[in-house]
Amino acid sequence: MLTIGCHLSSSKGFLAMGKTASSIGADTFAFFTRNPRGGAAKAIDPEDAANLQAWMESHAFGTLVAHAPYTLNCCSDKQHARSFAREAMADDLRRMEFTPHSYYNFHPGSHVKQGVEAGVAMIADVLNDVLAPDQTTTVLLETMAGKGTEVGRSFEELASIIERVELSDRMGVCFDTCHVHDAGYDIVNDLDGVLEEFDRVVGLDRLKAVHINDSKNPCGARKDRHETIGAGFIGIEAFGRIVSHPALRDLPFILETPNDLAGYGREIELLREAASC
Ligand code: FE
Ligand code: FE
Ligand code: ZN
Repeated sequence: MLTIGCHLSSSKGFLAMGKTASSIGADTFAFFTRNPRGGAAKAIDPEDAANLQAWMESHAFGTLVAHAPYTLNCCSDKQHARSFAREAMADDLRRMEFTPHSYYNFHPGSHVKQGVEAGVAMIADVLNDVLAPDQTTTVLLETMAGKGTEVGRSFEELASIIERVELSDRMGVCFDTCHVHDAGYDIVNDLDGVLEEFDRVVGLDRLKAVHINDSKNPCGARKDRHETIGAGFIGIEAFGRIVSHPALRDLPFILETPNDLAGYGREIELLREAASC
């Protein structure tokens, strides 16, 4: 069965997210480790975290896919912004051990005209600083649309980051369908070809999670504007192939579409149906 959920607010704590997920037919979810725009992180209640673990076990949840704040930029041209990214990630990874064996996804960063190579080196540098050999979390680089100076638009860029990370067995990739499509990979007409290319360049064993979003723009637009499932340029037929593909179907799928909770519930139902035929 498909493992699928959506982004949920963490404002009421861990167990509340588990219960909300179950109420819409989800069996995983995503949450921001701290305010997506700012930096402050709430203290974790260990009992609440343990209650979520119990809930996930009794409801057969798949792996959680936490999301770092999208303001973190590991390859900023400003030293203080890079230091902030480093400190926030290190702190997040300590906190992630309250929800052990989860995924922690982040946007590699924007090189702000310093060049992709410099960006890749700075991102790997942060990862080499914050990854710990005893952590249970796998850190995921998100595939990016290539808006502005985003690093991670091509599979080659993701591979070159991972290559430079010493504890690379703690690293994986989260495949965002809107981003990959906007970056110019034709997942609508040639999903097999795109995944073969991913395998050749990064390795399918690195592929750990999928952000499942339709796109408001055509393939290659480099825009990154998410659309609800079926209403965009990717379309429901392509999503049927995506959720059924042998390289993807056992991964956790996370919806980041512009939707409310009831809408997510309908998208989950739709995609579960699409996966079973
Ligand atoms: Fe993201
Ligand atoms: Fe995403
Ligand atoms: Zn996006």
